[in-house]
Amino acid sequence: MTDNTAQRIGLTTTIPMEVIFAAGKAPCDLNNIFITSPQREAFMTKAEALGFPRNICGWIKGIYGATLAEGIQEVVAVTQGDCSNTHALMEVLQTAGVRIFPFAYPYDGDRYLLTLQIERMMEHFGVTREEVRETKEILDQVRRKVHEIDRLTWQEGVVTGSENHLFLVSTSDMNGDWQAFEEEVDHFLNEAKSRKTLSNGVRLGYLGVPPIFTDLYDCVEELGARVVFNEIQRQFSMPFETTDIVEQYLRYTYPYSIFARLEDIKSEIHTRKIDGLIHYVQSFCFRQVQDIILRQEIKVPILTIEGDRPAPLDARTRLRLESFVEMLRHRDQDWIYE
Ligand code: SF4
Repeated sequence: MTDNTAQRIGLTTTIPMEVIFAAGKAPCDLNNIFITSPQREAFMTKAEALGFPRNICGWIKGIYGATLAEGIQEVVAVTQGDCSNTHALMEVLQTAGVRIFPFAYPYDGDRYLLTLQIERMMEHFGVTREEVRETKEILDQVRRKVHEIDRLTWQEGVVTGSENHLFLVSTSDMNGDWQAFEEEVDHFLNEAKSRKTLSNGVRLGYLGVPPIFTDLYDCVEELGARVVFNEIQRQFSMPFETTDIVEQYLRYTYPYSIFARLEDIKSEIHTRKIDGLIHYVQSFCFRQVQDIILRQEIKVPILTIEGDRPAPLDARTRLRLESFVEMLRHRDQDWIYE
């Protein structure tokens, strides 16, 4: 379905990538390109030199740099349901000659409006409903295998929080090549199933956009804790069984209100027996405000940490994390998971 020469289509966040794969093109999540690049700091510096303000989120600057550095010629930009900064980002990219296709998730999860958005995208990329349906079936098979990695994390305790994060976050574009990604997943599953259970420690959930910190999961494990729930990354993997693409992207919680996310978070806290939550917030991101609602609605202890640029954890955040894990370790474990 894709080959090494397939045209890469940049994504500013998760979109119905079935359409892109069906068109024989390769989806490319620009967030993943940015954060895994050895040049990630240079991407941000370049964006700032151009005029991106200091108080604009690092991901936006990173996406800008990654798009140009990778020579991406077309980007599907999410104009509703992700980040209002994307609007200005799209415009700047357009001035650099990048074609932009806007995609909007309806805030209220309106089925009709989402259907129109997906149909518009299908028309743009020249694919039929049937081709998209067939592609969804193929991608869903790969997603099921990634869900097994997730289960091995929280239920069997043989997968680390970092590995869980990496596989789940990669489902946003399947690294642009679902076949190669599936092989990688198969290989990992074979290896992980023969592992011994990792030590039982404090069980943490991770809420919020993926971290810009480079060593968060390693630090958590060093402290004797383990992330057994990566909330948004899990959402990228479309964790609900659906037969219809519109239904699939309606159940995906990230682009809609915090209340859809809350329902999912509460249910997973209970299922995965989570002792405490790390809420990661990005500097200058509007989603920081949602911390208020999370703290009002969730009874499990929450540590909110903030990151700005791609770098290891700073000493203060590390110390706060250490105190949090220590507090949870000595806490009475008999509270009701909520
Ligand atoms: S972290 Fe927040 S501000 Fe940054 S791109 Fe994502 S939604 Fe936008």
